[in-house]
Amino acid sequence: MSNIPHVVILGGGFGGLSAANEIRNSLDPSKVKITIIDKKDWFMVGYAKLWIMNGTRTFENSIGSLNELPKKQINFIKDEIIEINYNNNFVKTKSEDISFDFLIISMGAILAPEKIPGLVENGFNLYDHNQLDEIHQKLDKIESGKIAIVIMGMPYKCPPAPFEASLLVDSMLRKRGVRNSVQIDFYSPAPITLPAAGPEVSKKILDLVNSEKITFHNSKKITRVESKKLIFENDEYTFDILLAIPPHIAPKVIYDSNLAKEPGFIPINRDCKTPHENIFAVGDVTSLVVTDSMAVPKAGIFAEGEGITVAKNIVLKLESKESSALFDGKGGCFLESGRDTASIIEVDMFADPKPSTRLTESTKDNLSKKLDFEKERLSKWL
Ligand SMILES: Cc1cc2nc3c(=O)[nH]c(=O)nc-3n(C[C@H](O)[C@H](O)[C@H](O)COP(=O)(O)OP(=O)(O)OC[C@H]3O[C@@H](n4cnc5c(N)ncnc54)[C@H](O)[C@@H]3O)c2cc1C
Repeated sequence: MSNIPHVVILGGGFGGLSAANEIRNSLDPSKVKITIIDKKDWFMVGYAKLWIMNGTRTFENSIGSLNELPKKQINFIKDEIIEINYNNNFVKTKSEDISFDFLIISMGAILAPEKIPGLVENGFNLYDHNQLDEIHQKLDKIESGKIAIVIMGMPYKCPPAPFEASLLVDSMLRKRGVRNSVQIDFYSPAPITLPAAGPEVSKKILDLVNSEKITFHNSKKITRVESKKLIFENDEYTFDILLAIPPHIAPKVIYDSNLAKEPGFIPINRDCKTPHENIFAVGDVTSLVVTDSMAVPKAGIFAEGEGITVAKNIVLKLESKESSALFDGKGGCFLESGRDTASIIEVDMFADPKPSTRLTESTKDNLSKKLDFEKERLSKWL
């Protein structure tokens, strides 16, 4: 048994789960042992957080358990990873050392609200699942005043998600009949709504939020937050409820092992390799540059595609085949309108001669596709 190659996967999110399942669906346990390590034992599709925010979901109804993985002959260890030793091919968790033949680093991005002075004390972190119930209660009680949604660093997970959040907040307030007395302001450090999607799609998203009387303030770089006050580089605004998208960084263990330079992410190419033999990195923990001004966005669909690419390459190597797969850069992100429809931002990052993006119509059918996307991942991976 000890000669069976061991693939260790750090992180059981989109990248890790897609890679593990792809390998297991190609090779049985006599050919490869697979272990996923994660400090938490559940997986949630990111956008379910916005449904907890608007009260249409609970946390418990939105997660799948990583403890189901052994049923698929994928080992699961719930523990915190504290060291990646690529010279001696082992990783250290809080309780053990685990050796590997192949390593897939899929540890995602860490939310760092503490990087913005005053944010933790005065605002909510919209992407933190622990804060969603309290956010929901506040949104459900507000009768008048100002709600601010603020992007506080780039890059951040799922570029359209904060816009979707603003549209869902608008919808909540409309249903309660208080929308006319609550102002919604959206602040971003970027000059346009979605730089990664280009000016045309950005204009359509601007029109969409404006049509719901949500004000988009561009090029607003936050410096600190005070009680009910946002301090940007050049001006100040007041708020009553602050929903922040805090800066994102890589996990500490990535910097400690020199896989990336603070505050950046692990640089990869389309083969998702690191400079170290048989060590790959996928998803939000990476930076895959496409053009001088653009990298692959941090989104589950891309983490999934990269995970499948790495899995294919590991399987090819285990079968002693020469060929190798490259990540195709194709994917789509949903944008729910708050009016029981959704559109999809379709992306082809490596289209020739330049990345292409398209915003589809907002339809009920796309909203069902969004629900199906979640159901499908939870059922095929866990
Ligand atoms: C509100 C919201 C809406 C979104 N909507 C979409 C969407 O419509 N479409 C889309 O494609 N994407 C969407 N996303 C983005 C998507 O959720 C992420 O891009 C995706 O989860 C990235 O996958 P990943 O595998 O790289 O990282 P993750 O899914 O974040 O997984 C990383 C895992 O590593 C674990 N980990 C990290 N450090 C350690 C450690 N030291 N020890 C042990 N375990 C560790 C974490 O616990 C985590 O489980 C959305 C995100 C949010 C927040």
